[in-house]
Amino acid sequence: MKFQVPRGTRDILPGEAERWQWLEDRTRSAMALYGYREVRTPFFEATDLFVRSVGEATDIVRKELYTFQDRKGRSLTLRPEGTAPLVRSYLENAALRAESPARLYYMGPMFRYERPQAGRYRQFWQIGAELLGSARAEADAEMIDLFRAILADVGLTNVTVLLNSLGDQVCRPRYRESIRAYFTKHENELCGDCKERLETNPLRILDCKVPSCAPVIAGAPSVLDSLCEDCAAHFEAVKRALTALSIPYEVTPRLVRGLDYYTRTVFEIHAANLGAQNAVGGGGRYDQLVKDFGGPDTPAIGFSIGMERLLLATGEESSPPAPKPDVCVVSLTPDAAMEAQALARALRGPLTALVDVNGRSSNAQMKWASKTGARWAVFVPKGPEGYAVRDMAKGLDETAQPTADALRRWLTERRDLVEAGR
Ligand code: AMP
Repeated sequence: MKFQVPRGTRDILPGEAERWQWLEDRTRSAMALYGYREVRTPFFEATDLFVRSVGEATDIVRKELYTFQDRKGRSLTLRPEGTAPLVRSYLENAALRAESPARLYYMGPMFRYERPQAGRYRQFWQIGAELLGSARAEADAEMIDLFRAILADVGLTNVTVLLNSLGDQVCRPRYRESIRAYFTKHENELCGDCKERLETNPLRILDCKVPSCAPVIAGAPSVLDSLCEDCAAHFEAVKRALTALSIPYEVTPRLVRGLDYYTRTVFEIHAANLGAQNAVGGGGRYDQLVKDFGGPDTPAIGFSIGMERLLLATGEESSPPAPKPDVCVVSLTPDAAMEAQALARALRGPLTALVDVNGRSSNAQMKWASKTGARWAVFVPKGPEGYAVRDMAKGLDETAQPTADALRRWLTERRDLVEAGR
């Protein structure tokens, strides 16, 4: 029997895994600089959590959930996104609510049953930040600034911020009806999916990528013309705040996003080199969600970044080189194998050390040592002058050191000189 990785998923192998670690480290330090702290929620939650927040009529809930029953018949779902779980946790844990606003982030895999293609997977990783407890435009600006800081930190500066407002519970229903009326008039020009959306989720028509829908969409009324006074004022304040931070943005009235909980500000950041799937990530306000979950009135805003997309956008050149060991310990006789292990252990810490575990001949070990790219080979058993050291790059026997401690100090000093380029 032959097993394969499930469709829409992938293995992240050594080489690439170091790029992921690098990205994770960079992101964590950016989050820390802005005062955001990590929350790790479970990978699955009660199904209703997502149905009630992401929205019954969305593609995510209708078509993309990985839902299963556990042995007691509970309906559980692999998380398709990180905001709803984080809000659940925020309400469940007083410690998270102790600070207002709460600045939180998450990082981890999400699951959506989507049609796999370049940059789109069924298990993908997101980094997300959430700011709970501020309705002010400064919070919106901080979010977008943090988002850009993370991208800039991994070398991605050629990006575009798309900005829109979806209104709130006062003006959005009005807009929804006006857009439904408009698209109903043009129903014959819409694709099959959009005809369905007309009933369930007319706003999503604005987001349709089918070319035949484009001309109808272009003529649709703009959400920005139907904002109520408060939403319009908030949108103006957000634009002013971004300008104050010298963050360029493009107002994009067609930007609607795929989740229902958004209110007012929504945004996406696009990278020029990503092609069709060019959104590195996006986010927005969700001023009603905490209340909808039975919590106190808590306006909030967040974003999430797709890590696969971010890695695609940053390109190979920004990644760290594959690591090479400093030392390979070579045993010259078969019964020195454990002495080799003990010596390798004594060298580790300041140094990375590898050792043969296959009982290979000393010749084979030397070949293996040079294949690993190790700078030095050291030999056991210890000779009369101590541990012999060979510089693999120069092909020279360099020294013998009397003890493991002396050897470690000598090698560490050399390694630091080599790394400093001397
Ligand atoms: P969303 O949670 O839908 O707002 O998506 C936020 C970001 O997550 C997107 O801009 C993508 O970068 C990433 N993303 C969403 N869905 C997928 C997917 N199926 N595969 C890979 N990345 C995804």
